[in-house]
Amino acid sequence: MHDEYAHIKSQDKEIYDAIVGEQTREAEGLELIPSENYVSKAVREANSSELTNKYSEGYPGKRYYGGQFYTDIVENIARDRAKQLFNCKFANVQPLSGAPANVALYFALLEPGDTVLGMDLSHGGHLTHGHPVTYLTKIFKFVRYKMKNPDTGEIDYDEMLKVAKEHKPKIVLAGYSAYPRELDYTRMSSIAKEVGAYAVMDVAHIAGLIAGKAMKNPFDYGFDVLTTTTHKTLRGPRGGMILTRESEDIGKKIDKSVFPGFQGGPHMNNIAAKAIAFGEALHPSFKTYAAQILKNAKAMEKVFKDAGIRLIAGGTDSHLLLADVFGSLNIPGKEAEIVLDEVGITLNKNAIADDKRGPMDPSGIRFGTPAITTRKFSEKECARVAELMIETLKNKDDVTKKKAIREEIRTMCKQFSIPEVFV
Ligand SMILES: *Cc1c(COP(=O)(O)O)cnc(C)c1O
Repeated sequence: MHDEYAHIKSQDKEIYDAIVGEQTREAEGLELIPSENYVSKAVREANSSELTNKYSEGYPGKRYYGGQFYTDIVENIARDRAKQLFNCKFANVQPLSGAPANVALYFALLEPGDTVLGMDLSHGGHLTHGHPVTYLTKIFKFVRYKMKNPDTGEIDYDEMLKVAKEHKPKIVLAGYSAYPRELDYTRMSSIAKEVGAYAVMDVAHIAGLIAGKAMKNPFDYGFDVLTTTTHKTLRGPRGGMILTRESEDIGKKIDKSVFPGFQGGPHMNNIAAKAIAFGEALHPSFKTYAAQILKNAKAMEKVFKDAGIRLIAGGTDSHLLLADVFGSLNIPGKEAEIVLDEVGITLNKNAIADDKRGPMDPSGIRFGTPAITTRKFSEKECARVAELMIETLKNKDDVTKKKAIREEIRTMCKQFSIPEVFV
């Protein structure tokens, strides 16, 4: 099973052991962190290919170094497939990850001191949407909108418009790490237009659901730009990407901002892996995968609701759920994360809207179905996992019970081994 790492094994035992340890951890446990997934063997092969040796500063046909015949082929294919997947005219596939993609975008569209209107961070926004711990806040101004009602998840679009008119942002930003509902994209893009801002969505979490047509594509509702990661629901290698509906002006600014504005040489091995993942996502089977992610999340939602556990936004339209375990079971998020880890379920503690507890030990847990759906779990298995989660939390001090649950999860994992081929 581990022959693929023969060279690491003979050369560097410490790293070899850690890799095999991680391999076993992934095989024997359930991954419910909604930003994680399993990539195909083809994606991993591309990532470890000779393309890692090459410097390719610039873009296809316009590089600073020689020897770019094959790298140009790779990057052009990646860009073309990305455009096809998201039905748009421009793609920059060089951002090293989601956060650098957002930084490059801000510098492409904004001047220092300009304002971004984004989601309140405790209501699901990402660090790169203006958390005070990021350096971004030293350069740009961030103002906020929120959910109107955390029990339905409805966004307060009236307030969004009011704040937009008052602060005149250059970017109206949608997109979240911990918000489970569809948005009114038409409303948001019209608010952006009304104040002369770009409508941008950071689709990092749901890119695969958009590409797989299980969720709406913001480009169909007047959005100008999407930024994303490639390693979450999109099921590619770790990386980022920026897309625009129309090419021309904005595209040129984005290319200049990514390189040379912000990054150096692109990671061509990773861009090849992105191209392969995009190819997989263009395959008809990816639509089935994306649809199943949503069905599976709904199956988990039902079990939590039936058990009377409060879900933020009242449930989910996407791949993720946010449960108020402190409010409903009197178990802090951090303890819930640890107890579930003991039975082989990996997820993360998460702040809930207007959390009264601190960020290091918030009230909620966040979990989702992208990785277990890659593992071919259907609604039945997902409902069972949700039951086991609740059983574990309700019996968190019962060692015998937790042991039995760990065994049941180990058996499920054996039955549903992590696949290596998707198309
Ligand atoms: C994950 C995420 C990012 C950051 O991606 P990294 O690859 O971790 O840098 C940015 N925005 C959103 C909404 C995310 O969920």
